Amino acid sequence: MNSVLTVPVGLGDRSYDVMIGDGALEAAAPRLPGIFPRQRAIIVTDRHIAPLHLERVTAVLAGAGIACDPIVMEPGEATKSFAGLEQLVDALLERNIERSEAVIALGGGVIGDLTGFAAAVTKRGVGFVQIPTTLLAQVDSSVGGKTGINTRQGKNFAGAFHQPRLVIADTAFITTLPERERRAGYAEIIKAALIGDATMFDRLDAAGANVLHGAPLARAIADAVAFKAHIVAQDELEHGRRALLNLGHTFAHAFEAEAPRDAIRHGEAVAAGIALAFRYSVARGECPASDADRVETHLRTIGLPWSAATLAHKDWDAGRLVARMRDDKKNQAGEITLILARGIGKAWIDPRIDAAHLVAFLETSLS
Ligand code: ADP
Ligand code: ZN
Repeated sequence: MNSVLTVPVGLGDRSYDVMIGDGALEAAAPRLPGIFPRQRAIIVTDRHIAPLHLERVTAVLAGAGIACDPIVMEPGEATKSFAGLEQLVDALLERNIERSEAVIALGGGVIGDLTGFAAAVTKRGVGFVQIPTTLLAQVDSSVGGKTGINTRQGKNFAGAFHQPRLVIADTAFITTLPERERRAGYAEIIKAALIGDATMFDRLDAAGANVLHGAPLARAIADAVAFKAHIVAQDELEHGRRALLNLGHTFAHAFEAEAPRDAIRHGEAVAAGIALAFRYSVARGECPASDADRVETHLRTIGLPWSAATLAHKDWDAGRLVARMRDDKKNQAGEITLILARGIGKAWIDPRIDAAHLVAFLETSLS
């Protein structure tokens, strides 16, 4: 078997491991009987993923003496809704799920976030196991316990912190992922390096486009997960440092809100947002321009957007973007919070951004 890396997330009695690599699923099998005491696993997945990967998961669980009971949801962001939650909680209760049990989320961020939230609220909390099938979910959303759904007011506006019991990030799952999704997921890897690990960035940059496949990718996933695990262990509920993980995201959420549905992927918006966070830091005289240049060059090498103008949607208005940024749920007292950088690996949190100055900056960078 290929080597599987295990990254612990240290949260006291809620600690868990993230197992990463080609064959992580098989490597995790001996742990599963302890998590599924009734020898059955309810697996939540979607209609795209089920035909691709459900059979393998079912076979590995059967080998561990666990019978599978799948719930197949509609793919797409619309499933991450009150309607989707109701459907899923209903399905879990119909199956008489007990608190001693766990439910498996087999899928991308939509399935992971929805299933985690359903697990948090069903019978006031059942266990759950993340088996992320997108690169984005493997490096980011499956780790750290943020679960939730979108509401009319915005993305992830209803949710709960609910940590998984185990995360199985098997890179074999992402072989069926379109290249565009893979690249988009990589944006969250580079984000980790840029926040706080300059030597990780050097490694990624040296690998260039090779970092998207094989052993370099597994290593990069493990590095990003270890970085995130470290921050989550210090600040599980995001009272402070955990906000650093939002590097690029205040810009990204504005792009996502302003673009037509499905025009840009989350990771693409994050890539452009990261580049802008560096450029804005340079504009404020707080970051060497050479670091912003390196970030942009690396994003271009990967084939990711590296500015607002290189996103698939281009019709941006600086004032409208900043208005969206004001709505960000992480803001305090109506002020815009941005994660800025003093250089590669040196991100910091500025909770009082001057909106007019930001509009002026965006107008220049859009023109
Ligand atoms: P994320 O939020 O992690 O980017 P989503 O949950 O939005 O991902 O899923 C994106 C799309 O990719 C969905 O249509 C989903 O069904 C599909 N998908 C998820 N995992 C895979 C996979 N391993 N292979 C092919 N398609 C997948
Ligand atoms: Zn993100």
